[in-house]
Amino acid sequence: MKVSIGSDHAGYFLKEKIKEFLRSKGIDFEDKGVYSADGKVDYPDFARAVAEEVSSHRADLGILICGTGIGMSITANKFPGVRAALVFNEFSARMAKAHNDANIIVFPGRIISPDYAIELMKVFLESSFEGGRHLSRIEKIKDIEEELKFSLSHIFGMIRKFDPDVFYAIRNEIEKQENTLNLIASENLTSLRVLLSLFNPMNNKYAEGYPSKRYYGGCEFVDIVEEIARERVKKIFSAEHANVQPHSGTQANQAVFLGFLEPGDKIMSLELSSGGHLSHGAKVNFSGKIYQPVFYTVDERTHLLDLDKIREIARKERPKIIIAGASSYPRAIDFKAFSEIAKEVSAYLLADIAHPAGLVAAGVFPSPVPYADFVTFTTHKTLRGPRGAVILTKSDYAKKIDSSVFPGTQGGPFMHVIAAKAVCFKEAMEPDFKLYAEQVVKNARALADEFQKLGYNVITGGTDSHIVLIDVSPKGVSGGDVERELYKAGIILNKNVIPFDKRPPMNPSGIRLGTSALTTRGMKEEEMRIIARMIDRVISANFDEKVVSVVRGEVSEMCARFPFYRDLLMLLGK
Ligand SMILES: *Cc1c(COP(=O)(O)O)cnc(C)c1O
Repeated sequence: MKVSIGSDHAGYFLKEKIKEFLRSKGIDFEDKGVYSADGKVDYPDFARAVAEEVSSHRADLGILICGTGIGMSITANKFPGVRAALVFNEFSARMAKAHNDANIIVFPGRIISPDYAIELMKVFLESSFEGGRHLSRIEKIKDIEEELKFSLSHIFGMIRKFDPDVFYAIRNEIEKQENTLNLIASENLTSLRVLLSLFNPMNNKYAEGYPSKRYYGGCEFVDIVEEIARERVKKIFSAEHANVQPHSGTQANQAVFLGFLEPGDKIMSLELSSGGHLSHGAKVNFSGKIYQPVFYTVDERTHLLDLDKIREIARKERPKIIIAGASSYPRAIDFKAFSEIAKEVSAYLLADIAHPAGLVAAGVFPSPVPYADFVTFTTHKTLRGPRGAVILTKSDYAKKIDSSVFPGTQGGPFMHVIAAKAVCFKEAMEPDFKLYAEQVVKNARALADEFQKLGYNVITGGTDSHIVLIDVSPKGVSGGDVERELYKAGIILNKNVIPFDKRPPMNPSGIRLGTSALTTRGMKEEEMRIIARMIDRVISANFDEKVVSVVRGEVSEMCARFPFYRDLLMLLGK
């Protein structure tokens, strides 16, 4: 028999007596400390050292001693396979073995005398486990341990052990998301339900094709998930057909172009500096290399879309497709008017609602679905789902869109992501989501209003969405400066071009703010106004370090009042 023994300072003398007894009996033991009675130590350290020996079967029996024996018992019993029993009289010593098959015996060093402890040791060693109904009870304890073993924290622990570099980068990212104010308009905070749906072995499944028409066998379960995702998203947006496979917004647009344009065809879209997106014909993007882009802008004075002007350009240019939708246009878009222009010039209409999709789903932003030939959107912006995208279209175009996604522009779909998309759509169908989307817009309006009161130039004078675009150049700073310095204060936003920006895109005049993530945390108008004032204080102080540091403290306090991933961080451990 191999014994592992340990105590804290209060149990030291009793430990030394028990060691003498073990020696006299010829029992092999290892002393895990403490090695002197001087100074105070923490009992969990010694309970752990002994319990790990027993839990890993390196020792057959553990002996632990502290003042009352209680702290040692509590700690030791956290370890799988450990049954630590606090023993204080003859009956408890006998029963600990006979009924509980204890493998760690714990003595209260300040309650019983050394001689009595040795008597109890003898009783324990001479007793034997009765088995029978007591065995089935011990089996039940093991069942509990098995369940815990497959808890998330155990799984995260496995990642930490195997790949600490990646694990801690992930943990730090979560901690940063928890402890900063995220005003990046294209981002959001995904629920644990959605996140954990991503965490599933549908990742392993190849499913080229579509439900019940796959190029691989064994797709019956991924078929269910994709079918649910398609039906839900069709219902949310009242769409005739949905393709839920695009990996990203850019790839969704690519699939539309591939299906309905020929190389060299004209695409007409909003210019980048007016709020357009790279995938709408930018020179550096495939869309600008393969197709011929013509751009419209916003009005120079109001910074609003000018539909008369857009009609004029469309009549002159006769594009094959017109794209309505933007990345930094804060206002509602008149999709009906766009569709009339498209019809007039026989162009397709693509509505790219990557940004406001969640607001459209909730009915707080105009829906392009009745008017557009194709609607593309990302699932990770206001819709608050996993990264990815969707294409909605009319039944007539369904086949062509599907074959443009696969095999046209993608291979196997990410079935685990589609599972998470399905869960995200279910969330978007809940009454809560409508309240969320309404609050997103209310928050953006409060933010815009407060900035205007503080004397900032809010582009278009306000917002109809989650986006607030601000020209900070009259304050004598650039968007790049503001982005960098506010990050130090724990406020994350991004620099952005403003319409007809005179500064270079790498350090433009504007900042873009979005309220999706903060609203997900439960923040309301009051917090938006406080945040606007915090941002203004940093800018007005010309990024003074002291002001940045004071604001950082206030940001941390606010984050702590609106926790979001606190539980997840607990699961990951330190
Ligand atoms: C974000 C965005 C996209 C692209 O999304 P990715 O998933 O990053 O490719 C497309 N269009 C618009 C208007 C966007 O804002």
